[in-house]
Amino acid sequence: MAYENNVNNFMWYPWLNNQYKKIINFYNKNKYSAIILCNSTNDNSNNLLCYAISRRLICQNSNYYKSCNTCNNCMLMSNNNYPYYYKLHYLTLNIQKIRDIISNINKLSFKQVKVIHITNIEKLTYQIISTLLKIIEYPPSMTYFILSCNNISIVPMTIRSRCICWNMQIPSENYSIKWLQTIIHNKNEIIIRTSLRICNGSPINAILLLKSKLWNNRYILINQLSHALLKNNMLLLLPILNNNDKEIIYLLITFISDIIKLMKNTSELFLMNLDCISKIKSLLRINNIYKIYKLWDNLVNCWYYLNYKNNVNRELLILHLLINW
Ligand SMILES: [Zn+2]
Repeated sequence: MAYENNVNNFMWYPWLNNQYKKIINFYNKNKYSAIILCNSTNDNSNNLLCYAISRRLICQNSNYYKSCNTCNNCMLMSNNNYPYYYKLHYLTLNIQKIRDIISNINKLSFKQVKVIHITNIEKLTYQIISTLLKIIEYPPSMTYFILSCNNISIVPMTIRSRCICWNMQIPSENYSIKWLQTIIHNKNEIIIRTSLRICNGSPINAILLLKSKLWNNRYILINQLSHALLKNNMLLLLPILNNNDKEIIYLLITFISDIIKLMKNTSELFLMNLDCISKIKSLLRINNIYKIYKLWDNLVNCWYYLNYKNNVNRELLILHLLINW
């Protein structure tokens, strides 16, 4: 895919430019004092932005917004070898790892720039958050902390209150459609708009969804949903919900949300699944709103447990959901 590439030598998206510049402006004024928390509801370009900022901070000959791409530090970053850039993922992070990194950093020269980038901060355990809080209260010298998350509302206030929070802005829907039409083969506007709406406006996630097996299974899902509602037996959805990624639950939520919107006489323009309007309309004849609300509520709870709770038995959870609708 031919993405625009205008910051050094890595993939880049045009809508990140403004936010990148604002954050670099901020750093230029505030030096090392601040801890940045980048929040993006559903977009993996958040981590790309954090990486670009890290490269700029690590560069030895930066020119305001631009890193030079030729100094020793830039070369090491290009080869993923800069030893003091720590990108930490919540799944592999533990208290000992944080302590080891800080102990390492404390032994380094004052002049050495260090960047610690922690992703999905909202998914860290209470114990890790407590350890992190103690460290960011008195951060080591020349050390930048860049935190990122996909749901700032569940990041503990103790962390938020110590950070400068940036909310990533997504491009407008029409801008994203035009951009996507230059990138992907299927240029059908309804299909692209649907994919964007399902992905909360994120063009990157829209591409990934359109290219995934889940996109085709989505059409099977709406047919199965229609069948299940007609027969008043939601257990008919069990095979498709069990045999796909957990995101199939989210797709089902979008269909149920659209049914509720139409039941409430909302304009079709505000639906997510624009490519399935006639199918969704046909479901209105066979449903009562109380049951649909209950199904939506159960699905949202199920989605929450699958995303934010550990050791959940997915099959039992889905079974419980379908029996109790
Ligand atoms: Zn450089």
